Amino acid sequence: MSTIREVEASAYTFPTDEPEADGTFSWTDTTMILVQLQADDIVGFGWTYGSMATAALVRQTLAPLVIGRRVDEHPRLWQEMLAALRNIGRPGIGALALSATDCALWDLKARTLGLPLHHLLGKFHEKIPVYGSGGFTTYDDERLTQQLKSWMRLGLPRMKIKIGEAWGTREHRDLARVRQAREVIGPDVELYVDANGAYQVSQAVRLARRLDGYGVRWFEEPVSSDDLVGLKRVRDRCEADVTAGEYGYSLDYFERMCTAQAVDCLQVDVTRCGGITEFLRIAAVAAAHHLQVSGHCAPYQHLPTLAAVPNVRHLEWFHDHVRIEQLCFSGTADPVEGELPVPEGAGHGLTFRSRDVCGYRVF
Ligand SMILES: [Mg+2]
Repeated sequence: MSTIREVEASAYTFPTDEPEADGTFSWTDTTMILVQLQADDIVGFGWTYGSMATAALVRQTLAPLVIGRRVDEHPRLWQEMLAALRNIGRPGIGALALSATDCALWDLKARTLGLPLHHLLGKFHEKIPVYGSGGFTTYDDERLTQQLKSWMRLGLPRMKIKIGEAWGTREHRDLARVRQAREVIGPDVELYVDANGAYQVSQAVRLARRLDGYGVRWFEEPVSSDDLVGLKRVRDRCEADVTAGEYGYSLDYFERMCTAQAVDCLQVDVTRCGGITEFLRIAAVAAAHHLQVSGHCAPYQHLPTLAAVPNVRHLEWFHDHVRIEQLCFSGTADPVEGELPVPEGAGHGLTFRSRDVCGYRVF
């Protein structure tokens, strides 16, 4: 197989279309880190979202390991990249750098073989169910209604809004927004909420009873995802599925979450967990615990991976990342009747529009 001659790591910062916040964080822009690998005249790429320092870490620490290596050395390369991150710190930026580079290696391998990536991984699904995700706590009533209606026009049968505003101190507004969402979407669309760890355990249990009244099916991070005992306490006392996992940077993290019986569905992010290589192992661990996995954010980076995972529930159609990915890449189809088709082009089936987004480049 061909040899990797060039590694390019870059960062692009996109302003949000308006200020955004969840229960425990607020932001006005999002940075995408893109890793491009070239072997012969073929370029494979992968991406993640985080600090632009992630791109510097790829350039300084991972690129020297990758350059000059054959594409089929990927499994050994993954281990070497992991070892190189040991004293730097794997969780957080380290795992983001590893994930984007691993996704790029898989894309490059598939393109080198002339195959769609999900065929290389082992195609199981043709399309992946998605759920609309946004409903930020910064939105006024009009904006929330507008966003929910835009997802209904796309035919999405499930939608998620943020609650837990201001670290769980605005319960009345949280419940008013849930009520509003239910009124807008009607009785048949599944309603999900995400508190981003804003509540205390007893508070989450009390609120869960109110959420039941609005038919909420999914209660994401009711308490901190670091509190596995707390997640389980909420889970044991509420009707909705309790879910978490978006801050998981390794296989072990998810194994602990499964063993603690903390969640009803494991959320995994291929751009954070260690890339496609680690995602597939995590999905297998989840299967051993009879759990499904849901893809967290970065919808188009997840598609080929989820297509190869039998126990997938769905994928998050996250407002910010949909905007960014549809701007950055050609080949990004919209969902049809609530499902995203998996692209059939080589690799992940996307092309980076470098000229169109060069104005957003920050690193
Ligand atoms: Mg979340």
